[in-house]
Amino acid sequence: MVRVNKFASPSLSGAADVEQSAKREVFVPLEEGVFSFGCHRGISCFTKCCAKLRLILMPYDILRMRSRLGLRTEQFLERYTDLFLDPAYRFPMVRLKMKNDPEGTCPFVTPDGCSIYDDRPAACRLYPVGRASALPGLRPGRPAEKYFLVRESHCKGFEEDKRWEVAQWLQDQGVTEYDEMNEPWLRVITAGKSLGPPEGVSRKYQVFYLASYDLDRFRDFTLSPGFLKRFDLAPGLRERIREDDGELLRFACDWLRFSLYGEKSIPISPAGGAS
Ligand code: SF4
Ligand code: SF4
Repeated sequence: MVRVNKFASPSLSGAADVEQSAKREVFVPLEEGVFSFGCHRGISCFTKCCAKLRLILMPYDILRMRSRLGLRTEQFLERYTDLFLDPAYRFPMVRLKMKNDPEGTCPFVTPDGCSIYDDRPAACRLYPVGRASALPGLRPGRPAEKYFLVRESHCKGFEEDKRWEVAQWLQDQGVTEYDEMNEPWLRVITAGKSLGPPEGVSRKYQVFYLASYDLDRFRDFTLSPGFLKRFDLAPGLRERIREDDGELLRFACDWLRFSLYGEKSIPISPAGGAS
């Protein structure tokens, strides 16, 4: 079963994480941008799509899910995710671990549906729409996006009459909010800028993991006395980082630009200096 929300720069990518043969059968171009679909508890295939997924999580997915579950990010990552490296992506990616049962079900699926529905990840919100995006990296400009339908044989939702335009679907499912939160991070990972000498890359991957996924520990780091001495944060930013996950994520993306690419996105304190 398939969740597709791919991103690439500079050219559009297909769904590289799905078998080629499955791609041909399943991915249907959305030429007119309109489709018929409905999903509800009474449908015969209810929750069949919530198993055997290769579901990549983005930072805002993790923040929402860990809050829903009352966990810190390090606990959530340890219990529910795997880290993987794939040449299709430049940085380590995190995916949701399916259960070790015969069906390989999602840990959050129940007979009544998704137990974290209001905080489900972006890829689940998008489904059965798939998307390939070409982001302009750190340059200004909107991503080029291509939408298609993920038409899996078990999914009876396509037999329902309700008609959707893609933009309406994205709004209705809350994808738009997730896109806004994750876009700065997607721009960082598709920037294509040098990570410097090869011997420093593994250290940069650790920084990337902390500021992309383990955001509660990243928050602790940014609020530590040493950090506050070394960097000149704008008035009130410290409090906003402490209280607001959105602010934390935006600051984490500035930190990634600073620490991965050497940008001046975090001002260094004249008194403390940065080593
Ligand atoms: S209609 Fe499709 S999306 Fe809804 S439960 Fe069935 S398989 Fe899943
Ligand atoms: S998070 Fe929810 S919607 Fe997504 S696969 Fe798991 S149970 Fe299904």
